[in-house]
Amino acid sequence: MDVVELTKELIDIPSESARDGEVGVAKYVTDYLKGIGLEPELITFNSNNANVIVSIGSGEGLMFNGHMDTVPLGDPSLWTNGISAAVIDDKVYGRGASDMKGGIACMLAALANLGIAKKQLKRRLLFTFVANEETDFRGSDYLLDNRKELFEGVKYGIIGEASFINSKINLQTAQKGAISLEVTFRGKAAHGSRPWLGDNAIVKAARFITEYQKLADSFEVTDELLGKGTANISIVNGGNAINVVPDSCKVSIDRRIVPGETPELAIAQVKEVIKRLGIEADVEMPVSRNAFRLADDSPIITIMKRIIGEDFNTIGATGYTEAELYKAKAGIDSVVFGPGEKEIIHQADEYVTIGNLRKTQEVYEKVITEWCL
Ligand SMILES: [Zn+2]
Repeated sequence: MDVVELTKELIDIPSESARDGEVGVAKYVTDYLKGIGLEPELITFNSNNANVIVSIGSGEGLMFNGHMDTVPLGDPSLWTNGISAAVIDDKVYGRGASDMKGGIACMLAALANLGIAKKQLKRRLLFTFVANEETDFRGSDYLLDNRKELFEGVKYGIIGEASFINSKINLQTAQKGAISLEVTFRGKAAHGSRPWLGDNAIVKAARFITEYQKLADSFEVTDELLGKGTANISIVNGGNAINVVPDSCKVSIDRRIVPGETPELAIAQVKEVIKRLGIEADVEMPVSRNAFRLADDSPIITIMKRIIGEDFNTIGATGYTEAELYKAKAGIDSVVFGPGEKEIIHQADEYVTIGNLRKTQEVYEKVITEWCL
C-alpha cells in the first residue's frame, strides 16, 4: 500500500495514550506485516496497551522504532478540516500524522516495497512498534525489561520521530535529559490573624524560588548541539484556606540537562540553594532521564549521512525521545530520523507532507538495503 494511504489508515484508528490505548493500531500493524509475509509478534499488556515486534534475519542488528500512541486531539473545533485523516494539497492531516504514524507508515511501506520477506538477509533487522510513548514510555520499557533477548546484537537504531523542519531534512543525534524535581517546604499552621504563631511554608518556597531562578539563569555547561540546560519552575502548590498560615508548599521544577550535567548534579543544585538559605525541605526526583549524544563518528551517523546525501542539518533536541532509553538499557546508538514536522506536533491541524513521507521511505529503504541486503 502507498505510504500516503497507510498514513491515513493509521491516523483513522484512534490511539490516544491515556484514553484508547494503541491495541487497535497494533492489530492493524500486525495484520499488515503478516500480509507482506513476515512473522510479527503482538504483545498485549496492561489491558489496553500493545507492542508489535518483528525480527528478521540474524546476526548484528539494526532497530527501527516507532510509537503507536498519540497525544489527545484537544478541542475538535480547532481542527479546520475535521478530525478524520484528510489529504489536502501536499499534506496529510490528522492527529499522529507527524507524531508519529507517518513514521510508522514509512517503515511498513519500506518493508513491503523491498519485498523483505522473500529476501535472504546478511544481517538482522528489528522493528519495535511500541505503546504509550507520550505518557511514560511503558511500551519500550516493557520490551527492554522483559524481552532482553530481542536486543542482543543490536548496535544501532533509527527512531522514526519527527525530524523535519519546514520540509528540511535533519538528522537528530542529541537530546536533552528530562528531570522532574519536587521540593516540599514544611511550616506550622496557625490562625491567619496571628501569623506570628505559625511558620509560613509558602514564604520559604518563595525565597527558594528567587534564589533557584538566579542559579538557573546562569547554568554554564554548554553542548555544541544542545546549548545549555534549563529549569522551569512549573507548579507551586501550597496553602488550603485564606485564614490559615500554610504548613506546606510544594514547588515542581522541570529541569532539562545537557551532556556534562547529571540527575545527581540537578538534585545537588537544589539542595545547595536550600542549605544556603538555612531552611529545610524534602527533595524528590520522580523522573530522571539522562541527556543523550551520539559520538560524531558513530557508524550509524556515517551510514545516514551517506544515504541522505543532500544538504541536511545535524541537530539536537530539547525534548526527550526513546533514543536515550534504548542507549541506557540496551546500549543501542540511535539517531532520530522520521518524516514528521517537528514544529507542528501536538497541535490542532497536525500534518505531515507527502514529500517528507516519500523522502523518508526512500531513506529507510536505502538503509535497509545497505544494512542487510
Ligand atoms: Zn512522538
